[in-house]
Amino acid sequence: MDAHIATPDQAAGWRLEHSYAGLPKLFHAAVAPTLVRAPRLVIFNRRLAESLGLDADALNAGAAIFSGNELPPGSAPIAQAYAGHQYGNFTTLGDGRAILLGEQITALGARFDIQLKGAGPTPFSRRGDGRAALGPMLREYIISEAMHALGIPTTRSLAVVATGEEVYRQEVMQGAVLTRVAASHIRVGTFEWAAAAGDEAAVRALTDYTLRRHFPALAEGENPPLALLSAVIERQAALIAQWMCVGFVHGVMNTDNMALSGDTIDYGPCAFMDAYDPATVFSSIDRHGRYAFGKQPGIAQWNLTRLAETLLAVLHPEEERAVALAEEALAGFKDRFEHHWLAGMRRKLGLFAEEAGDAALIESLLAWMRNAKADFTNTFASLAHDTATDEAWQKDADFSAWHARWQARLGRQSQASADSAQLRRASNPAVTPRNHLVEVALAAAEHGDLRVMESLLEVLAAPYDHAQHAPEFRSSAPAGGGAYQTYCGT
Ligand code: AMP
Ligand code: MG
Repeated sequence: MDAHIATPDQAAGWRLEHSYAGLPKLFHAAVAPTLVRAPRLVIFNRRLAESLGLDADALNAGAAIFSGNELPPGSAPIAQAYAGHQYGNFTTLGDGRAILLGEQITALGARFDIQLKGAGPTPFSRRGDGRAALGPMLREYIISEAMHALGIPTTRSLAVVATGEEVYRQEVMQGAVLTRVAASHIRVGTFEWAAAAGDEAAVRALTDYTLRRHFPALAEGENPPLALLSAVIERQAALIAQWMCVGFVHGVMNTDNMALSGDTIDYGPCAFMDAYDPATVFSSIDRHGRYAFGKQPGIAQWNLTRLAETLLAVLHPEEERAVALAEEALAGFKDRFEHHWLAGMRRKLGLFAEEAGDAALIESLLAWMRNAKADFTNTFASLAHDTATDEAWQKDADFSAWHARWQARLGRQSQASADSAQLRRASNPAVTPRNHLVEVALAAAEHGDLRVMESLLEVLAAPYDHAQHAPEFRSSAPAGGGAYQTYCGT
């Protein structure tokens, strides 16, 4: 077994490449992480490390690497430039506190960005300190890993290191660095950056790069920029539909927080909804509800329109034709979203085939849930268990009427009822990272006790295992807790 003795450089399995640095200079700036005082590994994702081809045992003491104090072999750190529309207003941004170490190539040849978030100032830091706080980085770790386990495309979290330094927000907090793993960090805002520079060659280079990295089959077609736009529209339609099927509120859908890969990115003020209400907003700064739960599909289309605008010059040499092509592609978003959403909701109700009345059946359940302030996750989970008439609130006459309609619909399908129940269990999570559970885990972790977070992570890793979960992971927010708020500037 020990016939092959790895050289020290290969010992941990690092295999870093730097394709992004091959883009024109305006897209990146070389910058090294700033040393931290006393790095301590708080949490490490062994399974993710292994899937990346990294040796988890060799890295388990990786505080030095995951804090940025030591660079892994082959790294060439850069910060990425981008712009973005924040709450509808255009602004230039860039990685102000994130540093890309390189792209890890897995055994199967897949490419993943390895990025340190909170690694110190960069040329794009503006007035920020380049740092991150422990609580918010652990929060990103929990929720991104929960999203992954739910089957929703997302960036992942490899490690969180406490820096032994203080960071100053509304209060003094413990500093931390999160290692984020992403299919790429190409954002709608990256295209906006190139277009705002008026650099058509840069837009072309980024278009070509994005196609080769994420949609290689489309790179050689007749109109690759149009193929890119359509493919990104399709992925976003599918992604937002998945959010809407689990009650996820992203919270800050600025164009710099929308990834071309179709992964969920930027876990700042996000949260899962308890009581169903499309107007649900958690972010303390989203005063007008721009990014409310029910607004997410429309905002995605707004963001995609900003992307399309950056591509006009490369879509067609005649502007009028370019606009027509972009508009046609964008007009498809609504249908594609509805297609994915309806398919997802059918699965949640255990329906295999389509019937014309399905959308109305679903809408009528949602209308009831909204009126009854029914818990989103638990209502669907109880439908999955066939326990939907066991609880007091479910004796409600309107719910009973809906339930009878649903049962009749189930009765019209040829599949066995056990198969429908199986489909429902596989499509309705028993657990989601509920705000109060996350808060309790973070509070303990900030005081050095990781056990609560670890047991929460274990439960969230198997969200569709309806047999396993203890009731404390399933209850709605405790009454009297007040409205839950999340914060940006973390
Ligand atoms: P976000 O709200 O995480 O999407 O960040 C918006 C922008 O602010 C990005 O350009 C970030 O890099 C930047 N930013 C956020 N926090 C900091 C910080 N502590 N120091 C420097 N830049 C930051
Ligand atoms: Mg961001």
